Amino acid sequence: MIRLDAEQRAAAAIGRGPVRVVAGAGTGKTAVIAERFRRLAKAGAPPGSILVMTFTDRAAAEMRERIEDLTGSAAPGVGTFHAIALSWLRADGRAIGVPAGFRILTGADRWILARELMWQLGDLALTGDERPDDLVAPALLMLERLKQELVPLERLGIWAREAEDRDRGELMQACVRLFRAYEVECRKQRLVDFEDLLALAVRMLEQRPQVLEAYRARYPHVLVDEYQDLNLAQERLVELVAGGGEPFVVGDDDQSIYRFRGASRASLERFRNAFPAATTVTLGRNHRSSRRIVAAASALVGHNADRLPKQLRSGRTGEKVQVWACPDGAIEADAIAREAARLIASGLPVAEIAVLCRTNAIARPIATALAAHGVPHVVIGGHGFHDRPEIKDVVALLRVLRDPGDVVAIARAVTRPPLSLDPDQALAVLRDRKDLSPLDALKAWAPAGLFAHLLQTLAAQAAELDVRDLFFELMERTRYLDVLSTTLEGSEAARAVANVSRFAELIAEYCEVQADRSLQAYMRHLDLVLLSQEDERPAEVEGLADAVQVMTIHQAKGLEFDGVFVPGLVEGRLPQSGRSPRFELPATVLEPLVRGREDVIAEERRLLYVAMTRARRLLYLTRASHYEGGRRWRDSRFLEEVRQAGTRTVERRDVAEDRVSPPPALPASGEGAPAVVLSYSSIASYRDCPRQYWYRHVQRLPVVQSAEAVQGVIIHETLRRAGEARRAGADVTSSMLRALHHDVWGETTFPDPRRAATFERNGVEQLEAYRKRGGLDARPEFLEQSFSVAVDGWTLNGIIDRIDRTAEGWHIIDYKSGRPLARGRRDLQVALYALGAESALQLDPIELEIVYLASGTSTSVDHSSASVAEAAKQGAEVAEGVRSGRFDARPDRRRCRLCPYRLVCADAL
Ligand code: SF4
Repeated sequence: MIRLDAEQRAAAAIGRGPVRVVAGAGTGKTAVIAERFRRLAKAGAPPGSILVMTFTDRAAAEMRERIEDLTGSAAPGVGTFHAIALSWLRADGRAIGVPAGFRILTGADRWILARELMWQLGDLALTGDERPDDLVAPALLMLERLKQELVPLERLGIWAREAEDRDRGELMQACVRLFRAYEVECRKQRLVDFEDLLALAVRMLEQRPQVLEAYRARYPHVLVDEYQDLNLAQERLVELVAGGGEPFVVGDDDQSIYRFRGASRASLERFRNAFPAATTVTLGRNHRSSRRIVAAASALVGHNADRLPKQLRSGRTGEKVQVWACPDGAIEADAIAREAARLIASGLPVAEIAVLCRTNAIARPIATALAAHGVPHVVIGGHGFHDRPEIKDVVALLRVLRDPGDVVAIARAVTRPPLSLDPDQALAVLRDRKDLSPLDALKAWAPAGLFAHLLQTLAAQAAELDVRDLFFELMERTRYLDVLSTTLEGSEAARAVANVSRFAELIAEYCEVQADRSLQAYMRHLDLVLLSQEDERPAEVEGLADAVQVMTIHQAKGLEFDGVFVPGLVEGRLPQSGRSPRFELPATVLEPLVRGREDVIAEERRLLYVAMTRARRLLYLTRASHYEGGRRWRDSRFLEEVRQAGTRTVERRDVAEDRVSPPPALPASGEGAPAVVLSYSSIASYRDCPRQYWYRHVQRLPVVQSAEAVQGVIIHETLRRAGEARRAGADVTSSMLRALHHDVWGETTFPDPRRAATFERNGVEQLEAYRKRGGLDARPEFLEQSFSVAVDGWTLNGIIDRIDRTAEGWHIIDYKSGRPLARGRRDLQVALYALGAESALQLDPIELEIVYLASGTSTSVDHSSASVAEAAKQGAEVAEGVRSGRFDARPDRRRCRLCPYRLVCADAL
């Protein structure tokens, strides 16, 4: 049993009335709640009459265990807010019309439903975006926040109708319509989402006094942990069930990292307003971290304004807090892995070391470095189920069976178990196959012959078998799992097998509810699941307890370790830059207390504070000057704030550049190294990720075009035909434009028939808006004009959409069907076009305009001899990289997600 200090005992023992405990990091919040429970039970309260509300399942389990240890009896009233609300709704939800036997709608299913409705409604404000599917998740996040903050949909609808910012107003109106349709569909299908649980429980207690009284009578004692992170729905739940009683709540405004955008102290303040008689006590004695760690963390969080008063102190000794400066991200990751290995060798238990990252993406190179140094580690929640290599393998195999011409999937299928062929050789066979189909080409190559034949046989059976049987057949005949089990290390093999079994279960679950169980239908569903990014959790690894724990700071809440590393302390990563305001709830629809849009930096500072206060003895804050790309990253402002704790507390160290081998060169081409020919898009592609360039331009792996890309092709072709008509002297009328568009649609196979109608309608609207703005009034001189120009050892090729002659010279127009380009890309494109137009087409002087059809805007862009020289220099650098076979992967979460080669790329994030 843990002994409590005087401060903790006094807090737990406060006699009557509501209590608010403001408890600093490491001051033993859980212990105080458990002690409060013990005292109540000892005073005669039946354990079942004490309701203990926590934030996460893990916190609930820990709390239950602690209470049961302390009291020796069960604690049935301990649970998360969601679990408690669910049980109440199951028992009494009928009182407000919640259907009996409702199902919980979560994850990918919820995303798929919302996406389906978005396309059914076809609001241009959502479906007219460059990647409309990317808007589903932020829209659903906004819906969650509406429910969490108990904002009625009507209130947002009124705001949207009256908004001065027309674009934002239209977007919000489209969201309101989507949310209404979502609610109707949920009701129809007896579905309740996660946030509904809380909102409905609140409504039930507010509208049905007899139900409320019953719960109040059942739980005369209410204890709540992590009060600072409660949203309004959770606060209302506490206020209702504990109303008139004596709630006991514990929280720390400095550790508020989940509260949506609101002031960190909003929940604790609101509690005092709801229970004016509440006694406030403050706990300041940290029982976890060393004095130095507490001093450094306090120096940091002291920079946040408007905190509740508290003074954190510790009596423990410990090492100085280390601040490391590294030349680049690889060296930073390597240094962390080396230090972790050193600590383990010096006797620190491996599970007592944690690497806490701002995002999952930051964890990846560190996990790679730990593996390279042989340090056992586990990335918690980082690698999603569908990103696991074995799941990508089986998805690739299924993709081959769906479409035996899918070269990217075939490339993965033959270079991974069970065959594991040499990638260079396999890609060369696929690239140089001439007129053969990919599988026929592999059949003619001895190492792959039998396997390619087997895939062809299974692909032929795919039409007759349901996907469940087909998958069974695939696993059985490829012996995929047997091979995996013999090639992977024990626990990793077990994990891989467990994940593939889970994948088989998911197929079975799909087949149970769907009438169409064909491979084609299942793959359409799987494509949507992957698109949603609503991932399953991978299977747990055996021996999790004996590994360095790599996780996000949010996941580390409530945990503690002897040694903690916090990497990536640069501006833009920690703190992260501000979030996109597009889908942010307008402040005025929120409750006044959380309206004050708190500084994002304060929120990020609290995150680092939480990370630092997880450490007991050793704390390392690290950063690198360079991560991916050429730019230099600035130190996080937080490092300077931590250093203000003084040199006796914080020690700075420059990590030497003593490692980093260059990535191995890849073949620049299958047939020697011919002259390098580049275009704007290939230069941009190489600069984004040389490996992606390699797949596309060197290995020439063909990819399936997305619906959005085909829409772009259709719009360009329609504008070309309209331009031809105008050049021939005709006026482009609305009906002519519509007819041209209709013709092009008829000649094109659109890859997604279900969404075709919305895309077609949006295309017509965008084209007509451009025509109305006078975009098709002038007579074009050239359309889709290609050029080729030799530049300093490489050749620039390009196609200019349209060139008009003007009184002063030439007007070059580039149509874009997607979002406005980032400035750097735009300047590069414009300068390269200028180079082509002036040098190859001999046009002078020129002016350039980029037309964004989706947003109905256009930009005239200047170019200068300096920008043209800079573009030529960038092209020369790319040409040099291509010539010397430098095709290193440059993974980036967003880029990899959209990358058509992610299935075959081992570095995909
Ligand atoms: S998946 Fe990522 S790292 Fe791999 S090629 Fe594509 S963008 Fe590059």
